[in-house]
Amino acid sequence: MKGKIVIITGASSGIGKALASDLASKGAIVVMAARSIEKLEQLKKELIEKKYEVFAVQADVSKEEDCKRLIDECISKYGSLDILINNAGISMRALFEDVDLNVIRQLMNTNFWGTVYCTKYALPYLLKSKGSVVGVSSIAGYKGLPGRTGYSASKFAMQGFLETLRIENLKKGLHVLIACPGFTASNIRNTALAKDGSIQGESPLNEGKLMTSEEVARRIIIAIEKHKHRLVLTTQGKLIVFLNKFFPKIIDKMVYNHMAKEPDSPFK
Ligand code: NDP
Repeated sequence: MKGKIVIITGASSGIGKALASDLASKGAIVVMAARSIEKLEQLKKELIEKKYEVFAVQADVSKEEDCKRLIDECISKYGSLDILINNAGISMRALFEDVDLNVIRQLMNTNFWGTVYCTKYALPYLLKSKGSVVGVSSIAGYKGLPGRTGYSASKFAMQGFLETLRIENLKKGLHVLIACPGFTASNIRNTALAKDGSIQGESPLNEGKLMTSEEVARRIIIAIEKHKHRLVLTTQGKLIVFLNKFFPKIIDKMVYNHMAKEPDSPFK
């Protein structure tokens, strides 16, 4: 990773923040993007104190012009790009029959369109460097997650987009990694949108029992170094992806029963 120029979206929290710290410690030049510039500046300060090379750009990935500016700022400062990590994401929690459609639009605009916009403007530079595009998807991009129609749809869409991008560029040396964490301790459930678009404000899971963001980041970095195409994390996640190929109906029921047990589950 030494000297590689990396852009990470959603670097102000959770998995993105852990990726930024880990990659910077390995000698990468890290361009960190998110909406909360104060959080990015704080992280930048901490990393610069350790003599790491990092740069912060305020960008809302649901806006095409912000994504273009992010890539432009990276190129004008560093001249090239080796790795783009599309990590920025939001979640939701509401039944489809109750949800305001703007919630689903917001999910698609951030998780799916944010990935498409950043990748579009980064691609010419990544083709030049024979670099990597990474998408932080989810097990919910393999199996529908009840109460998260917009989230699962955005992650399935992301995976279809990235897989096609890989095949289109098979002869051009572009590496595409689809990383699918399982439940990971982070801020994502606190900021998840409720049926009316308000912020949920709390997590229904015991975050302390989940895989840490640092561990997810470590595994993603190894997968980038090995040029892996896919990374599926957590024992539960691996089991769901594997068993769903052979017993999809049984897994439907298992997922339903598991998610119905969540505190305040929107379905029972
Ligand atoms: P966090 O909520 O901790 O971090 C999400 C990051 O995305 C923040 O830095 C946030 O920054 C940024 N973000 C959100 N919306 C936007 C936007 N419109 N523009 C730019 N940045 C944005 O969650 P995680 O670390 O868990 O999530 C990272 C990725 O991992 C997501 O794509 C998520 O779907 C995926 N994932 C997470 C799992 C989990 O259980 N935690 C499981 C599987 C996948 P800011 O608010 O400052 O913009």
